[in-house]
Amino acid sequence: MAMAYCYLMTFETACQQKNACGRHFPQTRQNGKESRAGCFFCRLSVLKWTKMQKPEEHGMATEKLFYEDSHLRRFTAKVRSCRPGRHGWDVVLDRTAFYPEGGGQPGDTGTLGGVPVSDTHEQEGEIVHWCQGPLSEGAEVAGELDWERRFDLMQQHSGEHIVSGLVHAAFGWDNVGFHMGADMVTIDFSGPITDEQLREIERKANEKVWENLPYVVSWPSKEELGTIPYRSKKELTGAVRIVTVPGVDICACCGTHVSATGEVGLIKIFSSQKFHEGVRLELLCGRRAYEHASALIEQNRENSGLLSAKPLETSEAVRRLLSEHAACKMHAAQLETAVFRAKAESVRGAGDCLVFEPALDAEGVRKLADAVTAVCGGIAAVFSGADGEGYKYAVGQENGDVRAFVKDMNAALSGRGGGKPFFAQGSVQADRAQIEAFWKGRRG
Ligand SMILES: [Zn+2]
Repeated sequence: MAMAYCYLMTFETACQQKNACGRHFPQTRQNGKESRAGCFFCRLSVLKWTKMQKPEEHGMATEKLFYEDSHLRRFTAKVRSCRPGRHGWDVVLDRTAFYPEGGGQPGDTGTLGGVPVSDTHEQEGEIVHWCQGPLSEGAEVAGELDWERRFDLMQQHSGEHIVSGLVHAAFGWDNVGFHMGADMVTIDFSGPITDEQLREIERKANEKVWENLPYVVSWPSKEELGTIPYRSKKELTGAVRIVTVPGVDICACCGTHVSATGEVGLIKIFSSQKFHEGVRLELLCGRRAYEHASALIEQNRENSGLLSAKPLETSEAVRRLLSEHAACKMHAAQLETAVFRAKAESVRGAGDCLVFEPALDAEGVRKLADAVTAVCGGIAAVFSGADGEGYKYAVGQENGDVRAFVKDMNAALSGRGGGKPFFAQGSVQADRAQIEAFWKGRRG
């Protein structure tokens, strides 16, 4: 498709203009013109340039300004059609910088003639802008992208290519799933990658950012395509758009990209988990990676202050604290058992016992009731709580049956709970005076 008008540019100019080969394939360059002409990346540059010279070849389809300049934020265009749609008004232009959702990259938002555009989609071969109001057909309108959002999406997408290319080269795994979420970007790979291997991939990915390598876009012919080792999620037919980062990645992709890897800024992998036969990575690039890393550092700074530990020693301090906490819990449980035993001793042989104990959790209530049940010789009813908030209870009787008592109590004191014949646990929505009155009434 693009090959028809290659006469517009020589290979030499392409090389000088794009500078891709000179920087990344010095050997090829030294070998002179013939070698350059045979160089893969040079040919890509030529193809891209010639493609861009002939927008009219697109016929009646909307001219895709986002492919000519991925950094174009403002443009003017003629409204070709405007119809009511499911999301407001479906507007089709003669040309647009709004990228329609595809290839894992969300559609653009922004304004057309001052009217908000909530999303952009390709529908039946047309690029449709979902506008929140109507535009006059035939009118010339100014379009403006939500550039911060689009640039963020380009940083994520372009960074994803670097990581996917490096993983493919190192392990042969394919990117089988890519999602740009509101918080995290996920990539699914077809095979396992260890944490150590991921650290190495991340380090290399950032080195590629520092090298500021170009993103070269091309539309190779069918014959040429057969010679290119490109990554693709599916079998492709028709014109294929190839996005190349020299020495890092060659991928069939319809998305918009930054001009050079330096714009990706930062690539940070935040987590990895097993996913089918491979792994799912959570990562972020650019501004989002910077902001997320800053938030994590802020968390650690706060924890470092709370723990009186140096920022790189917080986990050691937490480990120490957890082991102290476990020892304290065990000591408290031993003391509690001793206190409950002593309390139970004071009602040994007393028969039915009503006991109030402040601020016990459900487990404490159960343990105290167990201790009293073992020695009192009657029904032991232990309550813990406060007036206005309600009370937790545990009721037991050795070899007895407390079910009827508990049923009556729940009915009288807005309670809930139950258990075994000889032991029940629950709570009541009543004050201490009401509980005591019920207890006395039952006895009396
Ligand atoms: Zn892509």
